[in-house]
Amino acid sequence: MPENCLFCRIANKQLPAKLVAESDHALAFHDIAPQAPVHVLVIPKAHYASLAETPDGAVMAAVSELAKRVARELGVEEAGYRVVVNTGDDGGQTVHHLHAHVLAGRRMTWPPG
Ligand code: AMP
Ligand code: ZN
Repeated sequence: MPENCLFCRIANKQLPAKLVAESDHALAFHDIAPQAPVHVLVIPKAHYASLAETPDGAVMAAVSELAKRVARELGVEEAGYRVVVNTGDDGGQTVHHLHAHVLAGRRMTWPPG
């Protein structure tokens, strides 16, 4: 694990976060700068710099399973939600530990900015 990775430190409970849910291999917590009434980040507990760095589909399977559970437990499953994985510079990724944004609570627009 990279010593200075922000989300590794959250996964290891070295840095505080507002936890929402947890599974064996993933962790969900509220985004510090919410872009919607519900804005939760879901990360694998293990470090992968981005989606491009994942060795197989198991990592995203764990992330998407927990994202689904978060939507259900926060009561937005029926109204709908958006799951976003920014990847690389053009994708707008700023934290280099794979994460999925779960956005909900308002009508999303398309195309994204
Ligand atoms: P991205 O731009 O896709 O890499 O998303 C990174 C996200 O991490 C942004 O939405 C930030 O607001 C969020 N973020 C950065 N630091 C923290 C933190 N300490 N706790 C929770 N969310 C954070
Ligand atoms: Zn990390």
